[in-house]
Amino acid sequence: MEILSVNAGSSSLKFTLFELPFEKVVVSGTFEKIGIEGSFYTIKYNGEKIRKEVKLKDHTDAVKILMNELIDMKILDSYDDLDAVGHRVVHGGDTYFDSIIITKEVEEKIEELIPLGPLHNPANLTGIRSFKKILPKIPQVAVFDTAFHQTMSDEEYLYAVPMEWYEKFAVRKYGFHGTSHKYIATKMREIIGEDKKIISCHLGNGASLCAIKDGKCVDTSMGFAPLAGFIMGTRSGDVDPSIIPYVMSKTGETVDDVLNDLNKKSGMLALSGVSSDMRDIEEAYLNKDPRCIRAMNMYIKHIANYLSMYNTLLEGTDYIVFTAGIGENSNLVRKLLIDKFKFMGVKLDEEKNNQRGISGEISTEDSTIKVVVLPTDEELMIAKDTYNLVNKEK
Ligand code: AMP
Repeated sequence: MEILSVNAGSSSLKFTLFELPFEKVVVSGTFEKIGIEGSFYTIKYNGEKIRKEVKLKDHTDAVKILMNELIDMKILDSYDDLDAVGHRVVHGGDTYFDSIIITKEVEEKIEELIPLGPLHNPANLTGIRSFKKILPKIPQVAVFDTAFHQTMSDEEYLYAVPMEWYEKFAVRKYGFHGTSHKYIATKMREIIGEDKKIISCHLGNGASLCAIKDGKCVDTSMGFAPLAGFIMGTRSGDVDPSIIPYVMSKTGETVDDVLNDLNKKSGMLALSGVSSDMRDIEEAYLNKDPRCIRAMNMYIKHIANYLSMYNTLLEGTDYIVFTAGIGENSNLVRKLLIDKFKFMGVKLDEEKNNQRGISGEISTEDSTIKVVVLPTDEELMIAKDTYNLVNKEK
């Protein structure tokens, strides 16, 4: 089956076409600056990358061009050749525990959830509607970033705030990166042959940890919004909320301004004063830049705190899994973090950890917790969920 995996942003549309069940990537690419001056798209096919500049008025333009390119490249014979489209949708509220075929009701619900996911759900919905317009007969599936975390118990997801905030306004922890953490849980089950107790560490520009037991999420570090948890590239992670009105009173900023500061001007960018990119920070850290040393030490401590918390929650951990840009590529972050757990007998095999592009175990034989690097693949997870749902319907 030919399944298109889609991630629509406010001015972008990323796609990967998979052939399932073979998990083969046929073609991938991105449409950028949709609705803005200078729009263009790139397509990767057969090891080549093409880039074309073209006016993209809206997402529907992008979908039309994409489908026509797929036909011109002889990847598809006609629009009907595409079997299904899977969409990344950031917020599924507490309605969606799993991916779902998009009906009119589902579309309305995603719209209803916009106040909970104001930065992402409108764009995700635009993507869905554009594909519906061009491909009205082809099934579409929503894959929610929050869904995997819906197995958390109320003891994990409630905040200690007035109960009517939860009852009337749905204020609770939702968690994000669920598609990535689900991929890790699924892949680890495939590799080991059974469900183990796992702490999945998705360390990218945005980052979260997820405690997984019996293949299900027990707790995760992001919260009501993707701002919570530990320090990230430009996001603060957990801070005392009293800071917000105080800064507003001092600077004259609005609440949106301060939230923007916490989302875009904080985290490693603020602490290092250099960059939000871990590669830059590592370089400066190794050159003994004091701000970057402090930033790195804080980053590691904050993640270690969450790891310790989840180790206790799981009553012991079998596997710590590193994934996403930093988790997959930074042997320094992995080493500094795992060294914090030496006292518990968790040990890295330095040689394995230092290998470029490693995927697999990086702990020693006698390590009390096994440590693994596993590249995430959210696009494939979206395509697999779509494939499974569409086949179930048949
Ligand atoms: P992501 O959000 O998953 O794309 O991850 C982005 C983050 O991964 C950025 O902070 C990058 O600096 C980081 N990253 C990518 N490659 C490397 C690398 N080789 N070493 C350290 N950090 C890396």
